[in-house]
Amino acid sequence: MNAPLPPDQEEQAQQLAARLAEASRDDFLRMARLLVAAGETPFDGDTEFQLRDHALRLGVRALKVRLAEKNGRDGSSVTCPHCGQAAAAFHDDRGRTITSLCCTVRYQRAYYYCRRDGDGFCPADQQVGMGDRRLSPAGERVTALAGRAEAAVPVVGRAVASGRGILREERASDGVSGIRGGGLAHR
Ligand SMILES: [Zn+2]
Repeated sequence: MNAPLPPDQEEQAQQLAARLAEASRDDFLRMARLLVAAGETPFDGDTEFQLRDHALRLGVRALKVRLAEKNGRDGSSVTCPHCGQAAAAFHDDRGRTITSLCCTVRYQRAYYYCRRDGDGFCPADQQVGMGDRRLSPAGERVTALAGRAEAAVPVVGRAVASGRGILREERASDGVSGIRGGGLAHR
């Protein structure tokens, strides 16, 4: 279990929880419709798979809310991490797509441009621990595990390593991935 947070962080968490609940209202409505439609048989199999997919979407939603708040915007200029020039200017917001353990996440973060380098950078990429990678750290761990599973158990491992567990298509409308085809156990 998670250790209790210091009071100031607990206060932040309570406020974030309220924002997440607001952002996830439609996700819960979809889950509610699913359960109502399942009637007396929520354990009919398909319902469980769909519930799990909704739970993953909730994870993506939470990440997106947080990433929008941690977008690296820090005034009209920041210090360039490459050359140390103090006045790299805010340019615009740039979209980015990463594959996380909770599926594909598309989000915006602030982009600053350094005239001296003739190049730009997004402070949030380092701040949120993503750097230049495309897979999130947890996504990389699962992919590595899947690779080892493939080596050990070629047939099952291949299905895992194909990324069915984490790589999903993105639904363009809101950047939350659409989870298609269900999980491994569907097969
Ligand atoms: Zn620079």
